[in-house]
Amino acid sequence: FTLLGLESSADDTCAAVVTSEGHILSNVVVKQNEELAEHGGIHPYVAIQKHQQNMPGAIRRALDEAGLDVSSVDGIAYTRGPGIGGCLSVCSTAAKVLGATLNKPIIGVHHMQAHALTPLIPTLYQTQTTFASAAEVELPPIPPRFPFLSLLISGGHTLLLLTHSHDQFKTLATTPDISIGCAFDHVAKYLGLAPTERGYGAALEAFCASGTARFTDATPEIAVPMPRQLAFSYGGPRSRVEIFVRERGGVQRVPLSTRLKLARAFQAAAVRQLEEKTALALEHCAKLGVGVRDVVVSGGVASNAYLRKTLRQSLADTFPDDPPNLVYPPPHLCTDNAVMIAWAAMHRFAAGDFDSYDVSTRPKWRIDDYTGKALARLQ
Ligand code: ATP
Ligand code: FE
Repeated sequence: FTLLGLESSADDTCAAVVTSEGHILSNVVVKQNEELAEHGGIHPYVAIQKHQQNMPGAIRRALDEAGLDVSSVDGIAYTRGPGIGGCLSVCSTAAKVLGATLNKPIIGVHHMQAHALTPLIPTLYQTQTTFASAAEVELPPIPPRFPFLSLLISGGHTLLLLTHSHDQFKTLATTPDISIGCAFDHVAKYLGLAPTERGYGAALEAFCASGTARFTDATPEIAVPMPRQLAFSYGGPRSRVEIFVRERGGVQRVPLSTRLKLARAFQAAAVRQLEEKTALALEHCAKLGVGVRDVVVSGGVASNAYLRKTLRQSLADTFPDDPPNLVYPPPHLCTDNAVMIAWAAMHRFAAGDFDSYDVSTRPKWRIDDYTGKALARLQ
């Protein structure tokens, strides 16, 4: 069967057509880069307006690029939550209207479940030969096996999940303050960087990779002591950069070489925290007798190439005898997309586990509470 996926939980308007075998027939992502740059981040009202403007065209393009008439689509999957309420209502209403009009089933998907299940798309493992060199191959030969660890690092979340099955997740670590993606965005702004077409986080990564100094030069000013506990914290490193710049009278007064050093120190500290917490989580699972062989890293920040390389090396060093299998979905499937939304709905679709056309959105939705339809019916 074939599903149309719709996503509009944050700032990207996405539509995609995916088959139950995992063939990606189309993947349309409409970004809001100008609005991001103008408002220095996501402005909810602007984002809602842009979704309303862009969603119909995104759906049309997704169907055209898939070469399908809408009547050949078997169902519609959309992001039900979590996310910005008004933004979620755009993909949700689009899915419901299409479903009700065409008399096709709809399935409301948990956005973080979709990020977590992306690496299970089987066709990703058949297309590895398209990588330019062996060094670029970032997926192991086979998909991750349950239970696996999911490190979800994005604009709204910093999560370490024990993924037991397609619909059972346990949060091992989260953050009481800002997300890692948010910290990358803020630091890029403090350092006076303009967003690239892939956003502020990608601009910070590109800045760190520019110039001739060493990639990971550390600067003591933003070193933050890290307790040996599972919770993440990115407010500290972010604020240190902010204070450093403010104390010097603004970013214009900080020499380029110092800005570069700060950016690299922040990026290195951010990744070091991921290394430490992932290692702790693996030790924690081993103590509980839960055999975890694979670690999936996904969400927008997982498209960072420095992070991919450093984390792989660090885990190999920490667990030399039995290194975990690291799984990185391709960068364009780490950031928001509707392929993952359609894919995450496949199991429920196969089981005939559909949502009713009057199901509500869930802007706040803990992934530990996710149980598919049973809960959807109750709420
Ligand atoms: P969530 O998935 O938690 O609801 P979201 O959907 O807004 O949040 P994603 O699209 O998954 O988030 O990720 C966006 C975040 O990823 C932004 O904060 C962005 O700056 C960050 N990001 C994207 N590319 C990079 C990169 N190369 N390096 C660091 N951060 C990046
Ligand atoms: Fe996301």
